[in-house]
Amino acid sequence: MSRAVMDFQMLADGDRVMVCVSGGKDSYTMLDRLRDLQRRAPIRFELIVVNIDQGHPGYPADRLRGYMRDEAYDFTMIEEDTYAIVTSKIAAGKTYCSLCSRLRRGILYRVAKEMRCTKIALGHHRDDILQTLLLNLFFAGKLAAMPPKLMAQDGHIVIRPLAYCAEEDIAAYARHKAFPILPCDLCGSQDNLQRKIVGQMINDLASKHPDIKSVMLAATQNVVASHLLDKDLWSSLGLEAARELENDGLLRPDALVRLSGPFAEG
Ligand code: SF4
Repeated sequence: MSRAVMDFQMLADGDRVMVCVSGGKDSYTMLDRLRDLQRRAPIRFELIVVNIDQGHPGYPADRLRGYMRDEAYDFTMIEEDTYAIVTSKIAAGKTYCSLCSRLRRGILYRVAKEMRCTKIALGHHRDDILQTLLLNLFFAGKLAAMPPKLMAQDGHIVIRPLAYCAEEDIAAYARHKAFPILPCDLCGSQDNLQRKIVGQMINDLASKHPDIKSVMLAATQNVVASHLLDKDLWSSLGLEAARELENDGLLRPDALVRLSGPFAEG
């Protein structure tokens, strides 16, 4: 995580970081590691932890409150009944996620402003980024993953400190720390099916080629812009013609394996 934070200058001296915790393994791990980084870093930054109680029936808010109290975090539970809005606007049986996440993002941006936070930290990790890369490629006709650091339209800076972290490592760490995980099926919505399919596809490939996720992540850091067909990109880079690569544009497999090294270590 420290390497991603440094590579993209995610944190600066004096930052007030709003850490968004859903109660899942990813955001607990991000918070725990950010606090560790806070103790060791040569810069000073604050962690303001928030969770949104979206009004899902049976939401165990007290479990999260108890953990935050025991660990002495600066924690705020935001209560906004988006569940009622979503269920009144979306027909039963349809997926709620698109509207639900848009409402949640609006709340987080508003609260970040009210709390005078300079950054918003989200717990997306390497595997989320790889899934998004393939979703965009297969279903949106776009070559893009998730930015590690984003300037939102209203000026907020969103950071993803776990961008280099493997989901299986996060899961193992969460088990080791025994975080009180909240269930994620309370809304009754279906998971994003396309994301599930793509995630399964990557996992199937990884079972035969264990390095494949590391290699895919390396690919997002090793873009050969001239070997894509984006004429606007060519123009902005001032390219007249691409330079020839070996094997008709394919990079050597051993180069990819070499690139995967550091990431394979997690
Ligand atoms: S899974 Fe449920 S809580 Fe999560 S975005 Fe979808 S509707 Fe919202």
